[in-house]
Parts: sequence; C-alpha cells; structure tokens
Amino acid sequence: MSLSSVQSTLSTLKSCQADIGGCMDMVSDVALGIVEAQGMDNSPALKKLEGMILECSRLDREINCFVESVDEMTAQVRHEPPEAMVHLRNSVKERFTELVAGVTDADLQRHSKVVAFRDSVRKYAMQAGQTAAENEEEELDEDIAVTQSQTNFICPLTQAEMVSPVKNKKCHHYYDQEAVLEMIKARHKNKKKFRCPKVGCGNTDVQLSDLELDLVMKRMIQNHKRQSGKT
Ligand SMILES: [Zn+2]
Repeated sequence: MSLSSVQSTLSTLKSCQADIGGCMDMVSDVALGIVEAQGMDNSPALKKLEGMILECSRLDREINCFVESVDEMTAQVRHEPPEAMVHLRNSVKERFTELVAGVTDADLQRHSKVVAFRDSVRKYAMQAGQTAAENEEEELDEDIAVTQSQTNFICPLTQAEMVSPVKNKKCHHYYDQEAVLEMIKARHKNKKKFRCPKVGCGNTDVQLSDLELDLVMKRMIQNHKRQSGKT
C-alpha cells in the first residue's frame, strides 16, 4: 500500500460523501411532499424519514472520522522508514475506532442537513397552513402575490426563474445553484473574490460554504410554475 493509493481512496470516499449529502436533500424533499399532501409536520412517515436522515448523518460523520484518522496516521509515518507503513493499517483502525466512539447523538443532530431538514419541514408546514387560509379569505390579492413571488424567484445572475435555489447564509440572498457555483469557482481560480450579485448588497466575499440549498423555495417555485402553467 502506497501513500498515493491511500490518497486516491480518500478522494473516492469524499465523493461518496457528496452523494450522501444529495441523498439527504432527496429525503428532505420527500418529507416536504408529505407535508404538502397532509398539511402537517408530525406524521409517522416524517418520523421515519427523520430516522433515515440521521442514519445518513452518522455515515457522513464516520467518513469524516476515517479521513481524519488516515490523515493523522499517514502524517506520522511520512517521516519514518518504509517499515512503518506495515503498521499503518492497524494504527488507522485504532484511531478510527477511537474517533467513532466519540461521535455523540448531539453530533448527528447538529449536521447541517439534519438541521435543514427540520427547519424546512417546519417552515413548509407553516406556509402550507398560511396559503390555505389566504386562499379561502382573499382571492383578489392573488395577482399581487404572484407578481411578488415571481420577482423573488428570479436569480440575480441568470435573470431567469431559479431551478435549484441556494440561499446565502450570510446576506440571505438567493441564487440559482449551477450559475453561482460556476461563478465562484471561476473567480476563485483567478484569486478574486466573488461579490453578491444582488443589487445593493454589501457582501463582497461569497464563499461556497455560505450557500445552502433551499428545498422549501425550490418547491415553491415548482408549485408556482405548475399553477401558472394551468391558467
Ligand atoms: Zn447578498
């Protein structure tokens, strides 16, 4: 086993982790579908989905532990004679067991996508309740509501309706995921900062880690598209 093969295995694991993140987004989206269909946020099906997302959270944390233990142990053997490599497997295993044992239930609950799952279910249930009440009360305001929501659904980068809206955690502005990722990567490649494209925003340094997929917003845009397609 060489150190370079270890590194390539680690990068495969990291791409696995991205898939787990995508999986968690999907579970959250299914949960929002249930909220939409049932109009409540405490059904047994939602509990099941929450269990699934916590499992994903555990898997994600365990991969972190593994990567950390490999990083630590390979850093140690790097300056030692080649014979030290023989013990690498065992020392990684030991360190990994140690790290995994330290993962608490609170760690799993703190995972950003677990938090996002709960927040979006709560937010969406509240919104679904509100929309139902509004529809009963005033049909007249519909035009205004549509115009307002349409402007909110427009990406400041593409000037088109967003497909996968991501929210900036720092300045709370929204962009379409694909467009903003491309722009940030391009700017950073040239060692430049990416300024928030929303007019009047003072955020001059948007980082990839500031962005979070907003599934509630995504669903609102989809619903809006369906509704406006009908009329
Ligand atoms: Zn902004």
